[in-house]
Amino acid sequence: MELALEEARAAGDRGEVPIGAVVVLDGTVIARSGNRTRELNDITAHAEVAAIRMACEALGQERLTGADLYVTLEPCTMCAAAISFARIRRLYYGAEDPKGGAVDSGVRFYAQPTCHHAPEVYSGMSEMEAAEILRGFFQGKRD
Ligand SMILES: [Zn+2]
Repeated sequence: MELALEEARAAGDRGEVPIGAVVVLDGTVIARSGNRTRELNDITAHAEVAAIRMACEALGQERLTGADLYVTLEPCTMCAAAISFARIRRLYYGAEDPKGGAVDSGVRFYAQPTCHHAPEVYSGMSEMEAAEILRGFFQGKRD
């Protein structure tokens, strides 16, 4: 989660919304990314999707069965779905996102009968720090 926080800070420094994600398989970091939507002009380049793409490319496979994903904020609907489709084993996330989250908030994607693979979910990891990075970023935007 420390690496995910690092990616979040780096994303913020690039002017992206500061969210970071890391994919780990068998104790090895396979991919790490922050939000890249502005850099790539790609609204789907959320940290989770970017990290999943990188991990799949690195492994040369379309799924990440057995891999774990760490992300600083509760994933949105799109990312929750991507995490499910990628067959991620465990999802660890930092801060809750009652406005845009889709795991324990909103549509609760993994609890839906249309969801065919649900990762084990662990929330609240480095929650304060993850929330503080986001708060600082948006505060800076308003100042
Ligand atoms: Zn997302």
